[in-house]
Amino acid sequence: MLSDSFIADVAAQIVSIGQRMYQKGFVAANDGNISCRLDENTILITPTGVSKGFLDASGMVLVRLDGTVISKNAAPSCEMPMHLRIYRANSSIGAITHAHPPYSTALGIAGFTLNDSLLPESVLRLHDVPLLPYATPGTDALPDLIVPHCEKTRAVLLQNHGAVTWGKDLQDAFFTMEALEHTAQIQLICEHLIGKSNRISAEHMQELKG
Ligand SMILES: [Zn+2]
Repeated sequence: MLSDSFIADVAAQIVSIGQRMYQKGFVAANDGNISCRLDENTILITPTGVSKGFLDASGMVLVRLDGTVISKNAAPSCEMPMHLRIYRANSSIGAITHAHPPYSTALGIAGFTLNDSLLPESVLRLHDVPLLPYATPGTDALPDLIVPHCEKTRAVLLQNHGAVTWGKDLQDAFFTMEALEHTAQIQLICEHLIGKSNRISAEHMQELKG
């Protein structure tokens, strides 16, 4: 049985992650969504139509993994089915963030994904980030594309849309979104402003991957 204080604590963490996401410019207006697994059957997710910078802990929506909405106070994000499918695909995933960070999104629009050998930190956290083809937001086509990657990566780029990241908890999922955007920004500066990037050698990549 989930206690009210536990749910309130997770809701407060989602508010905090939403503020960081908004302040860093990863979302505009009401874009993006955040969720956290509470137990094997239940998640807490952001409501639809609310800016991630101005979330209210009491406005989060409790949902069962089968899609039953428990909370009556607000409607869940229209990307709720995508979140549920990701949790069902990998039981070790504890939280998911979805945003439209400008540099990562721009790479995806241009048809590129992250170079996986630019920075040690991004090698360790991001591994390979697939660029998935465009799918209409809120449709089953989006999770259909993401689910095959849920076991082997922590992040995906969505062409002409944005990025989805996940992790063991909210901070972990958000840090992956932050690392993704930081790496995309540095990659764009090197490859498109400076016009040159040196890669970490294959030998050093092996050392990093252990
Ligand atoms: Zn989106």
